Amino acid sequence: MAVLEIVTVPHPVLRRKAQPVKPEEFGPELERLAQDMIETMRAAPGVGLAAPQVNVSKRLIVVEYEDEEEGIPHQLYAVVNPRIVRVSPRRVVGLEGCLSIPGYWGEVERAYAITVVGQTPRGEPLRLDLEGWLARIFQHEIDHLNGILFTDRARRVWRAEEEPDAPAV
Ligand code: ZN
Repeated sequence: MAVLEIVTVPHPVLRRKAQPVKPEEFGPELERLAQDMIETMRAAPGVGLAAPQVNVSKRLIVVEYEDEEEGIPHQLYAVVNPRIVRVSPRRVVGLEGCLSIPGYWGEVERAYAITVVGQTPRGEPLRLDLEGWLARIFQHEIDHLNGILFTDRARRVWRAEEEPDAPAV
């Protein structure tokens, strides 16, 4: 495994619509990219990472999250070609940061709950019902695949060295 370089704004790859992973691309090479992205996310540290953030314009995201206080057990996902197929009518505002926009934070309104379908890097189908922080992280990462950054959606953005309540994604 390897820690990859995380690209930051204004790198053009962050504004490109990432390419779907084709059926023939599934397998060991894609699994290695997912593993490298997991290692890169952990080293950052962050709780989510999308392939364009490591300068790979493909539809692949990784997410790792747990919250003992909220009773959310450790969860690790690598999702290829993720697609949101359901959003809750309930929307919530939360604090976000981004590993590709270091030092900036913002309040972003997102759906409270979503259902995501996609595939594992081995090509197995995935269907995930997500809510709260996990749903937020997935929406942030899937935005990256469409060239959208949290600053596009934020009600307000500010600069700070650190915001301890906002995991970076
Ligand atoms: Zn981000």
